[in-house]
Amino acid sequence: MMAAAEEFADVEQERMVLESVDRFLERDVAPYAHDLEGDDVYPQGIVEKMVELGLFGATISTEYGGLGLSVSTYAKIVERVSAVWMSVSGIFNSHLIMAAAVERAGTKEQKHKWLPRFASGELRGGIALTEPDAGTDLQGIRTRADKSGNGYKLNGAKAWTSNGVEGGVLAILAKTDPEAEPRHKGMSLFLVEKSEDFKVEKRMKKLGYKGIDTGEFTLDEVFVPGENLVGGVEGRGLQQILSGLDLGRINVAARGVGIARACLTKSIEYSQVRETFGKPICEHQAIQIKLADMATQVEAARLFTEQAARAYDKGERCDMEAGMAKLAASEAALHNSLEAMRLHGAYGYSKEFDIERYYRDAPLLAIGEGTNELQRIIIARQLIARNPV
Ligand SMILES: Cc1cc2nc3c(=O)[nH]c(=O)nc-3n(C[C@H](O)[C@H](O)[C@H](O)COP(=O)(O)OP(=O)(O)OC[C@H]3O[C@@H](n4cnc5c(N)ncnc54)[C@H](O)[C@@H]3O)c2cc1C
Repeated sequence: MMAAAEEFADVEQERMVLESVDRFLERDVAPYAHDLEGDDVYPQGIVEKMVELGLFGATISTEYGGLGLSVSTYAKIVERVSAVWMSVSGIFNSHLIMAAAVERAGTKEQKHKWLPRFASGELRGGIALTEPDAGTDLQGIRTRADKSGNGYKLNGAKAWTSNGVEGGVLAILAKTDPEAEPRHKGMSLFLVEKSEDFKVEKRMKKLGYKGIDTGEFTLDEVFVPGENLVGGVEGRGLQQILSGLDLGRINVAARGVGIARACLTKSIEYSQVRETFGKPICEHQAIQIKLADMATQVEAARLFTEQAARAYDKGERCDMEAGMAKLAASEAALHNSLEAMRLHGAYGYSKEFDIERYYRDAPLLAIGEGTNELQRIIIARQLIARNPV
């Protein structure tokens, strides 16, 4: 009886949350997305609405002031947001990956100090792992954190940091022991707040994913107090951040479902109003085949994503499932955005409409949170490990 009541409360909470997200998207995002994206402007007004909605605390426990949503509900939010404008989801996604690392691996003091500020949206940030010379091979990073007084001095360079410029704090991965073997044992994660000594000003220019800032910066003798070392122990940084990547991959998968679905919806509409040779193009079999393939990709991507999110919520191992969801959904987004462009003809290529934006946003999903090449390697390794002869 108790379990049924709890399940009902969860379903009810999800319904209410999704309704308010839909209202927010319709009223505060959809009317502005096209112009803000076109001008590559940080959507400050939208961010303020997201603070009010509590989205910066979506997956943070209620104990720390967050909404404590399940990852299944969270994935549905990300899908909806990305179907309207993917960049908006990036603003809270990378912030929540940082928060998840603190909630999972931080000390009691760190959780109490940081999580309420993260959850309220008062302090927002992201994760700075990638460097100009190291992305997939994170163990090859060169940023160093050397002991200095009661803290550390950070030196190095980071690139491709989402929320790097606008965020007030970044979780930075650095080497505390560059000679360590295996290399990951010499890596640590630090929470670094912006200050006079630590500013990020350079925004990288990108094909798509505009509006959200992507920062590049150097660290020159930046002092970080010892209490900002996540977990209070050196050598666990890679593990701390990578264990959050399943969540990150589900999140990218949900973005893929959103883009793939938006491309399908717009194609279904357009194919009924555009006429060639005396009939709507949806009556041509070549177009019907496209619509059928696009719809099948959306459903498959969504099922993969829901399956991975359910496993995550149950606390089951889900690296292979999250990898498959990320792979399938990002490829669905790539496929559907190209097919939508073909189907819309010249209007797909026009800056007046949204298809070209989806087409520019989709490739990021094949790169971020581990490239799709890496996902295939993770999936294959798991296939072997889970099926020993
Ligand atoms: C818009 C944007 C936002 C981003 N935001 C963030 C962020 O917030 N924080 C952050 O830390 N990073 C961020 N990144 C960086 C992103 O995570 C990296 O780009 C990604 O991990 C790939 O690293 P790389 O670009 O250095 O490619 P590389 O690692 O140099 O890879 C190059 C190619 O080699 C392939 N490859 C590499 N190793 C292997 C292997 N062993 N086997 C087979 N193929 C392999 C890759 O799949 C890829 O095709 C962002 C990137 C972009 C474009």
